[in-house]
Amino acid sequence: MYKVIEGKEHALKIRYKIRENIAGMLNSAGRPPKLEVIIAGSDSASLYYASLIKNAGAKEGIEAAVNHMENPSENDVLETIDRLNKDDTVDGILIQLPLPPSLNKEKIINLINPLKDIDGQHPVNLGRLAAGQEGLFPATARAVLKIIKLNGIEISGKRTVVVGRSTAVGLPAAIMLIRENAAVSVCHSKTTPLEKFTSEAEILIVSAGKPGLISERHVKKGACVIDVGTNEVEGKMVGDVDFDSVIKKASVSPVKGGVGALTMACILENTFNAYKKNIHGNRT
Ligand code: NAP
Repeated sequence: MYKVIEGKEHALKIRYKIRENIAGMLNSAGRPPKLEVIIAGSDSASLYYASLIKNAGAKEGIEAAVNHMENPSENDVLETIDRLNKDDTVDGILIQLPLPPSLNKEKIINLINPLKDIDGQHPVNLGRLAAGQEGLFPATARAVLKIIKLNGIEISGKRTVVVGRSTAVGLPAAIMLIRENAAVSVCHSKTTPLEKFTSEAEILIVSAGKPGLISERHVKKGACVIDVGTNEVEGKMVGDVDFDSVIKKASVSPVKGGVGALTMACILENTFNAYKKNIHGNRT
């Protein structure tokens, strides 16, 4: 049996620091950080996740509000974003994806003020990430980097494979890993055979949204495998990695207490960072 790559304990430490930092700023700022989560439609996972963000925010001193629009027009969503952009007491905006197919995702994301873009999906933030500049970067990709580093896994020079190229996870994680001097390959749905690439990886990140996509035969002996996938199968949450078989050959992060716990910490951290900039009027 190899090691279980841990996220939860590290996430708790990060959240504790955020709580302390907010408490330290409250008097001078005159208000807590404020995050507005927008849900367009009735995706049950989005609704559930928004409630988790609200509760996590409340624990750490962040006021998180959920704007749920059950059947909105594109204009309804754009008007909501415009209103939140103009409200100086709002530090962060987070749009829950997926959006209903009738809404233009690009138009909606592009309207968010990049300084309030908590999941780093605005092209300005993705561009800043690619250019190596400061910005707000995707929480899950940040969580992937944190789980690797906080578990003491060396990145520099390592053969690293990322499965998935979404702008929320795979693509930004690949860019972050390149910045840490990993030798990175990115795989996607057109990569065949997938195991030819994955079985070479010393570090393997999997974010495909396909339950059990990665089994023992896809993995190099002694590798570190980071499972980002969260898939509901018969009422159970499972990852993209077949944990029970892969743990016999490599270290693996679990679905529960792995990347997800750190993603929540990174959402709160991004909100706190946006709040600091907003309060200090350093909006560049
Ligand atoms: P996404 O936007 O659907 O992207 C999935 C990516 O995986 C795409 O690039 C796709 O390739 C690739 N892919 C799909 N099937 C594949 C296959 N058979 N072989 C290789 N690549 C394949 O999904 P996402 O937003 O990145 O999320 C991925 C998973 O992570 C989901 O399960 C999601 O729920 C989970 N997630 C977890 C967290 C967390 O905090 N733990 C946060 C966010 C997301 P193409 O580009 O060619 O289509």
